[in-house]
Amino acid sequence: MDRIKEAIEAVVSRYHTANPFLIAERLNIEVDWAELGHMPLGKTIHDGEMPIVMLNNSLRYSPQRYFVMAHELGHVILHEGLNSYYTGLSTGHDKLENEANEFGVGLMGLLYVEDNDRLPETVDEIQREYGIY
Ligand SMILES: [Zn+2]
Repeated sequence: MDRIKEAIEAVVSRYHTANPFLIAERLNIEVDWAELGHMPLGKTIHDGEMPIVMLNNSLRYSPQRYFVMAHELGHVILHEGLNSYYTGLSTGHDKLENEANEFGVGLMGLLYVEDNDRLPETVDEIQREYGIY
């Protein structure tokens, strides 16, 4: 099994939810809604060792907030300790973004099952529900 699927399964079985906001709460990750303008939709900053996820206020009532939060959680869980790397240098940035997206999409698949008590019939269904871009 790949590292990202493994990370998703570990988190979901540990916290008994695939809801990224509940997972963040249980990991004591601070989540702040902020005026970030048009972009980015979310970003993770660090206060010393502590990650703080900033989410764009424009997503506050949008289902897309779940995916954006899951993406940022992916960075925190998969890339902890690499933060100077992923905020600073451009080398490897795409790879890290792809990994965070993969984490987000995988988590949303499980959240769908949690919310709907069934598997989604199509990938479209998950995308529509959580605004995955
Ligand atoms: Zn990212």
